[in-house]
Amino acid sequence: MIKSQHDINELISLKNLKKAYNTDEIQYIVNSYTEDNINELQMTRWLKSICENGMNYQETVDYTSCIVNSGKQLSFKNQKGYIVDKHSTGGIGDKVSLILGPVLAACGCYVPMIVGRSLGHTGGTLDKLESIPNYNGLLSVDEFKNIVNKIGISIIGQTDEICPADRKIYHLRSKTNTIKSFPLICGSIMGKKIAEGIEGLLLDIKTGRAAFMETIEDAIALGEFLKKIGLEFNIDVKYAITDMNQPLGEYSGLKCEVVESIETLKGNGPKDLYKIIEHLGEIILNMAGINNAKNKIQEVIDSGHAYERFCQMVSEHGGKIDEIKFYPRESVAVKAKKDGFLNIKNPKKMGELLNFIGGVQNSSKKIDQNAGFKIIKKHGSYIHSNDTIAILFSSEKNTLNRAVNNFNKTFDISDKKLNSYKLIY
Ligand code: URA
Repeated sequence: MIKSQHDINELISLKNLKKAYNTDEIQYIVNSYTEDNINELQMTRWLKSICENGMNYQETVDYTSCIVNSGKQLSFKNQKGYIVDKHSTGGIGDKVSLILGPVLAACGCYVPMIVGRSLGHTGGTLDKLESIPNYNGLLSVDEFKNIVNKIGISIIGQTDEICPADRKIYHLRSKTNTIKSFPLICGSIMGKKIAEGIEGLLLDIKTGRAAFMETIEDAIALGEFLKKIGLEFNIDVKYAITDMNQPLGEYSGLKCEVVESIETLKGNGPKDLYKIIEHLGEIILNMAGINNAKNKIQEVIDSGHAYERFCQMVSEHGGKIDEIKFYPRESVAVKAKKDGFLNIKNPKKMGELLNFIGGVQNSSKKIDQNAGFKIIKKHGSYIHSNDTIAILFSSEKNTLNRAVNNFNKTFDISDKKLNSYKLIY
């Protein structure tokens, strides 16, 4: 084996001194970790150093290129429709991709969507899809491309073939709480999106106490940064800033979010969720040059065409749509102890709790597809003593009891009137 001229410990020390890397050094780090030549401990130290010291624009472009080049890159050049994707920076109850993807496909777009698993306290689209019996979210690149060409949408996770570097680094970032960093988020999101071979991308930048970008200023800064990186790789990037101070829609979890997505595709979804679908969908259809976007979205939902695309996609992935049933063995209602205004003060804890009951980030625990919660009352609502605020679900009574205690710490009831949050900023 030829000895590399680089040494990871020296490169970490360099970054700790706030020095910039050259292309070769970044390639060494990403490729060596992907190929198991840098261990988890060393990579964690590197990730921590990046979270603290950052990377400049050119380093971020190089890092993003390395993520893309770690696997294959698709091309849909001969396709007639607009090749587009939407990606969220992460939230709780954020099932928008499951709904918007099929809606866009039914409107004539092509959506090759590469997604991740749960990251930190946020939910992962791949975990949700895998709660559909038999759904294979790790198809080969050829199968992925064929499904997109055939029905307009396919959703997979990072694999050994496509963005393997992101697959490994993403998992480690989630485990080591090294998520919140512009260059790391950028490489992770844009790496996947560039590999998809898309023309346009809409980013749903979540902001608020349960988002990685807690302030509007940070959300705008990230959006502008990702837009600039998109230009570098010939992708037209737009961004929307939407609220993440409380879970989106009613359900948060795995199977329950799939069921809520299906209901939304059938026209029976909760209002806040539908508004987000409509807002993001309108921006994307405008990018695609499709007029009358809001009506078009309503039309593909009312006609059943969007739901049909979802069913076709699930079936192409081997999934059994008729077997999706959400029957949690255990459930507990969380009740208000007094009258007043509901103050969701720690929504991030709700996400952490969800991952705890679902077991999605605990490799020693079996994933509980039926774990989750339903939010009955939203932030700012006036509630009476004994009203049900939320219902928690699980397959295990003990887990559920512990979860209820923690859930009670995520909110309080205020005597003073509270403003509800804006949904779209
Ligand atoms: N989504 C991703 O794919 N990666 C991140 O780092 C954050 C959100």
